[in-house]
Amino acid sequence: AKDRGGQTYMFYDQLHPEQLPERHMLESDLRKALDRGELHLNYQPIVDVEGVVTAAEVLLRWSHPERGFVSPSKFIPLAEESGLIIPIGEWVLRTACLQHLEWTSKQELPHFKLSVNVSLRQFLNHDFLTSVDRILEQTGFNPESLILEITEGYVHKHVEQAIFVLKQLDKRGIQIAVDDFGTGYSSLSRLKTLPIHILKIDRSFVRHLQSDSTNVSIVQAVIQMGQSMNLKVMAEGVETVEELMQLQALGCTQIQGYLITPPLPAKEFVAQYHQFAMM
Ligand code: C2E
Ligand code: CA
Ligand code: CA
Ligand code: CA
Repeated sequence: AKDRGGQTYMFYDQLHPEQLPERHMLESDLRKALDRGELHLNYQPIVDVEGVVTAAEVLLRWSHPERGFVSPSKFIPLAEESGLIIPIGEWVLRTACLQHLEWTSKQELPHFKLSVNVSLRQFLNHDFLTSVDRILEQTGFNPESLILEITEGYVHKHVEQAIFVLKQLDKRGIQIAVDDFGTGYSSLSRLKTLPIHILKIDRSFVRHLQSDSTNVSIVQAVIQMGQSMNLKVMAEGVETVEELMQLQALGCTQIQGYLITPPLPAKEFVAQYHQFAMM
C-alpha cells in the first residue's frame, strides 16, 4: 500500500479484498449521514487535580440506520480517504461551538475549553484556516476557548506547512494539543520551535502503569519535557484509580478517561457534570 498518511495507511493494510464492496457501501452511506442527521457528538471531560473540568473533548458518533453504532476508528479513515472529512469536520466544529455557547452563555455550566480533533486531511486542506475563521465568526465562539488536537505525525511529515498553519492558529489564541503523544517520533528540537500548548500522553502509555516500568519512564519523560517546555500535559485513557494515583505522583495534572466518564451525549454531559470531579 502507498503511504497516504496516518490512519489511512493502516486502514488499507488491514483491509482484505473481499471487504472492498463493504467499504464502498459504508462510504456512500457516510456521504448521506450528515444530511440525514445520523452524526452526533459526544463530550468527554478533561479534569485537573483540583477536580475542575478544564476542557471537554468532542468525539464524533455515527448511528447507522441498519448497522447501528459504527466506530470512529472505522469511519474516520474512510472520511479522510474520501475527502468527506472536510464537510464533516466543519460540521463537528460548528456544532460543538454552538453547543458550548449554549452551555456557557445561559450559565448552565461554568467555563471550560472545547477540544476538537482535526485529522491530517483537514489540517492540510488549503481552506482549513478560512473555514475555522468562518465558523468562529458565524458562531461568535471565542478562539481562546478552543483547543485543536492534532497528532504528532503531521508535524513530522509536513513541517513547513504545519508550522505555517500552527502559527496562524496561535495568532488567533487557539491552543494546540499534540494528541497520542509518544507514538510518533518528533524530535525535541523541532517540538521546541512549534507553537503548541498541550501534550496528550497516549492511552497505551497509561495502561498498566503500576506493573510496566517502561511506561512509567515514558510518562515521566513526557511530563518532564512538558514542564521544561512550558506545556500542559494531559493523560488520556485513564481507567483505574491506580493509574490515576501513579499519574498524580508523577506530576500529571490533567486527566481524561473512563475512570471519570466515557464520552457522553450533550444532555448526559450536563446532567453528570458535577460528578466529574476527581477523587
Ligand atoms: P482519540 O482522539 O485518541 O480519542 C480518544 C479515544 O479514546 C476515543 O475513542 C475515546 O472514546 C477513547 N477513550 C476515552 N477514554 C478512554 C478510556 O479510559 N479507555 C479507553 N479504552 N478508551 C478511552 P473514539 O471516540 O472511538 O475515537 C477514536 C478516534 O477517532 C479518536 O481517537 C480520533 O482520532 C478519531 N475521532 C473521533 N472524533 C473525531 C472527530 O470529530 N474528528 C476527527 N478528525 N477524528 C475524530
Ligand atoms: Ca483526541
Ligand atoms: Ca488521543
Ligand atoms: Ca488515540
